[in-house]
Amino acid sequence: MALVNKIIPFSCIDGPGNRTAIFFQGCNFKCTYCHNPETINKCINCGKCISTCKVDALFKIDNKVIWDDKKCIGCDDCIKACDNLSSPKTKDYSVDKLFEEIKEISPFIQGITVSGGECTLNSDFLVKLFKKVKYELNLTCFIDTNGSIDLTEHKELVDLTDKFMLDVKSIDEYEHIKLTGVSNDIVLKNLKYLLSIEKLYEVRTVIAPNLNNEETVIEVSKIIKDKCKYKFNAYRKYGVRKEGLDFHGEVGPNEEEINNFIELRKSIANNL
Ligand code: SF4
Ligand code: SF4
Repeated sequence: MALVNKIIPFSCIDGPGNRTAIFFQGCNFKCTYCHNPETINKCINCGKCISTCKVDALFKIDNKVIWDDKKCIGCDDCIKACDNLSSPKTKDYSVDKLFEEIKEISPFIQGITVSGGECTLNSDFLVKLFKKVKYELNLTCFIDTNGSIDLTEHKELVDLTDKFMLDVKSIDEYEHIKLTGVSNDIVLKNLKYLLSIEKLYEVRTVIAPNLNNEETVIEVSKIIKDKCKYKFNAYRKYGVRKEGLDFHGEVGPNEEEINNFIELRKSIANNL
């Protein structure tokens, strides 16, 4: 079983073509700028959010908080009330149940992309799911990851995955720890490993105030050369919790600042 936060049946921003994007609940990073921090922890069934629901879509059975998605009006008051960086709006899935949902929409998609939270924390589940999606539906399987799980030790999962999208949040270990709570040593090991086996579709860096983004963009560009895409996401304050707002402020980079990073990346790729 795996806990799923959300499924977007048709997405055109999570890899090539029209894809079903599956967001798993739970992450081992705690990024200051995370804009959906309710995906970080699993619900501990404290029940605090139940009374915030105006339409009785939340209730407890056997000390477990249950979410009725048919009653839910999507106001997110429950998420705002949770101080555990969690959400009651998650669902437990078996591989077979998730596969059946994918199968229903399979004629209309090119593949699936699993994301999070951090999806690779469910690596055994993903191996079983990808085997069915690839061999029974003939769809591609992409992973969007923070790179924290050593992929050299998950060869079966890597073999089953068509391509990876990898976040490199900072090239500097101290800054990475400050930003995420975790070292970047495994992330950089995965970056080099995935490049060497030609499984990297895209690297992403969030451009945010009070980070040495320039150093990260320069050093990552030198590593990836022109072997994969490098995408820059602009920091925005929406959904960011107080400690993130204190660190990064209210205002993210404008279009011109993002374009400067695109030019920097291009100039490095052209001169290598
Ligand atoms: S979502 Fe948060 S507030 Fe609601 S029961 Fe779970 S841990 Fe408690
Ligand atoms: S998002 Fe849904 S479950 Fe949560 S408080 Fe609003 S209606 Fe209730």
